[in-house]
Amino acid sequence: MYADIVIDISHESLDRPFQYRIPESLVGQVQPGMWVLVPFGRRNTQKKGFVLKLGTKANIDPDRIKELTEIISDDNSSDKTRIALAVWMYREYGGNLIQSLRVVMPARKNVRPKQVSFLVRTSDEKRFLSYLDLARKKNWKGRVRLMEALLCRDYISSAFARQQLKIASDAIKALEEEKLIQIETKRFYRSVLPKESASLEKKQLNEEQQAIVDKLISSYQAGVRTPALLYGITGSGKTEVYMHLIEWMIHQNKQVIVLIPEISLTYQVILNFYSRFGEQVSMINSRLSDGERSDQLERARNGEISIMVGPRSALFTPFSNLGLIIVDEEQEGAYNSEQIPRYHTRETADKLAQLTNSLLLLGSATPSIESFSRAESGEYRKFCLTKRAVLGSCLPNVQVVDMRKELASGNRSVFSRELREKMEECLAKKQQMMLFINRRGFSRVVSCRSCGKPIECPHCDVALTEHLGDKLVCHYCGYTKAMPRSCPLCGSPYLAGFGLGTQKAEMMIKAQFPSARVLRMDMDTTSKKDGHEQILDSFRRREADILVGTQMIVKGHDFPGVTLVGILAADMSLYNCDFRSSERTFQLLTQAAGRAGRGMEPGNVIIQTYDPENYSIQTAANQDYESFYHQEIRFRRRMQYPPIGLMCEVMAVSADEKLANQWIWQVQLLINKRFCDIIKIIGPSDAPIARLKDMWRKHLYIRSNDHKAYLEAMELIQEITEQAAVQKVSIFVTVC
Ligand code: ADP
Ligand code: ZN
Ligand code: ZN
Repeated sequence: MYADIVIDISHESLDRPFQYRIPESLVGQVQPGMWVLVPFGRRNTQKKGFVLKLGTKANIDPDRIKELTEIISDDNSSDKTRIALAVWMYREYGGNLIQSLRVVMPARKNVRPKQVSFLVRTSDEKRFLSYLDLARKKNWKGRVRLMEALLCRDYISSAFARQQLKIASDAIKALEEEKLIQIETKRFYRSVLPKESASLEKKQLNEEQQAIVDKLISSYQAGVRTPALLYGITGSGKTEVYMHLIEWMIHQNKQVIVLIPEISLTYQVILNFYSRFGEQVSMINSRLSDGERSDQLERARNGEISIMVGPRSALFTPFSNLGLIIVDEEQEGAYNSEQIPRYHTRETADKLAQLTNSLLLLGSATPSIESFSRAESGEYRKFCLTKRAVLGSCLPNVQVVDMRKELASGNRSVFSRELREKMEECLAKKQQMMLFINRRGFSRVVSCRSCGKPIECPHCDVALTEHLGDKLVCHYCGYTKAMPRSCPLCGSPYLAGFGLGTQKAEMMIKAQFPSARVLRMDMDTTSKKDGHEQILDSFRRREADILVGTQMIVKGHDFPGVTLVGILAADMSLYNCDFRSSERTFQLLTQAAGRAGRGMEPGNVIIQTYDPENYSIQTAANQDYESFYHQEIRFRRRMQYPPIGLMCEVMAVSADEKLANQWIWQVQLLINKRFCDIIKIIGPSDAPIARLKDMWRKHLYIRSNDHKAYLEAMELIQEITEQAAVQKVSIFVTVC
């Protein structure tokens, strides 16, 4: 019997499993997922290893295979489940095991735990006072100052003693030797909680909300762990349902992970949770320093906190008694990881819930087609919230404006007459509005009017985007250059920008409504730390009338003062080459529309489009998710796209175009040979961005209805990935 063992997961160079023989006495005991000790290297040092799988065939000359030493009993159950999770991710999403292990159990960065030292008074009062008398007589000024400070307190921090009281270390040492004080050090955790707290009182649930909470609790008590989809229209109060359920979980000594799609939402969410649950809450996101992050994980591990809020990486919080995982806005694209393993947070959360016997709760106003179809089939349970929670607030009026007709009647402005009118009305009533545009920057691309070619990034095959200050920026790699005077290809001086970006929209608004106060929110204005919060706060405090921005502004924010939402061009996301583009358009429009009229004033939404008959625009205008779903699932069924069939993209990336090509064809060949009828391959071809940051990208799609064959194909690709890595070609899989 042999075992494949991964050694010391924190070590980059040991990126593959090694085979060991299982000694006679341990056969039957060694199982995948266990930690063991093995001799390693020329000196046979004992190292910790992790058993990946068992087998009976030796990969190399059996005489050269070493024997594993012993099983390390390791009863940290949170580590165990997370390792199992990493193994699952590795099987499902490819890459290598170490990459998965590192995502799930990030190596502890070398950060020093923060220690704070205190001076504590130890002796009884009488002795203390008599020594103070002595010190006064002898005029030991430092000791007197310190003792007087300690008279009215039990302890002071060493830093305070040194910096504020100006006490020299001699004086402290003297008092310590007299056993009058003692120095104590405490572990101190860096706080990531907001300084303020919102006065968010607990709300009495309405009937719909209460029924859902009751049902979720009683079924949980009965042992039901079928994932639940909470499908509630925008503003229906899903957060309140989460809060009540979390409260109950905490009463049961259970821990909770709350996932939110984007970092820009963290602050508002954490503020709400903090004011409801206080110090039991923490958050984690990529903007924290290494020290702050490792402190929060440590607090979770030692049970100091019970709720972790954050974007997808919060899923890997080392809780030992997890009860509930909430994935809010589960349809969001940001839940797809862009690093290898390219895991999907919802699917991974589902697996973690199974491993820990916890409940998975997905929330959305526009569920992903995947989740809704699972709810239809009974794989998930479905709970609906059908009304807006704030009394008197109702869904906004939505109007679709055909921009072709505007153009035909001579209006060349980006604002239709309807939108202009509504904007004037809104400003006159001193209400707020949001204008949504799907593209940052000034205008889309700069093209040459003589040869028709756009100006492209020298490192990526994409057009550069014009930004204010006569700059051209690559939105993929950040490359920036000054606007050229003439076309780099033909020398013609006639260059012009096409399309509309956020910067240009802001300028046009200012030109047309000079008295309006305008804020802009996009990647460029939010790149600083706290950039999001400052803009959102300022808008919330009504320091601006108009917020113009990219999709960042439509996600989840609750601004009761907003009565008008304008979508300047609804079509932009429709025409990319992805089979999910209708779904994305529908979600974006519904979310954007959902921002209007969340207070008492009725809301208006104007959707401007060149394609008013499109079903994703029509159904979004009616806020009719189910009609959209039924049309969309028909399309997916006809094309065998997910969630009907399984599909993934395989990409080969290399600095050498020939090699990238060679390996993607290798994938095609081997899969075709083994699975010719069961698995369909589309491609290979150049990826839509054929070159990115000077790396060539070739891809193909794999489609199948057979889960078993699909997983086998993934294994095959894994083998090819390892071979290709030798030639510095990286192959990775993205599940569609
Ligand atoms: P969703 O996430 O479903 O879009 P939110 O959770 O943001 O909706 O809730 C929308 C608004 O309704 C919030 O201002 C919230 O405080 C309020 N709300 C939620 N539940 C209730 C309730 N039971 N009674 C009164 N107001 C509520
Ligand atoms: Zn030209
Ligand atoms: Zn670039």
